[in-house]
Amino acid sequence: MRQDVLDFLRAVVEGRSPGEDWQNWFRLNEQYFQRVLSRGRFLRLKFHPLTEAKSILTQYSVPFEASEAFEWLDSFSTSDRCRICGETLMHNAGGWAWCPKGCFVLMT
Ligand SMILES: [Zn+2]
Repeated sequence: MRQDVLDFLRAVVEGRSPGEDWQNWFRLNEQYFQRVLSRGRFLRLKFHPLTEAKSILTQYSVPFEASEAFEWLDSFSTSDRCRICGETLMHNAGGWAWCPKGCFVLMT
């Protein structure tokens, strides 16, 4: 695993700004991950970044202090924050949810 990747994952797991947006960073490295990670690991990292990043860091013996600051990146997040930018989502009575920064609009 590349050192810059481990550094990035560690920053996210520790709740520090990794210097780049997770979604952009993942897209940029997607081909690399498909090459070096098993299919299961790749998908878990894509949809459950924090959980899988901890698992990868442990595998490579990288010490870290876990933080839930980026929990909202997870597909199963209960934080009610935008999975792309982390803003608190807006809701209306009609069941719509959207990101105030314009990342998405969702009718539930
Ligand atoms: Zn957003």
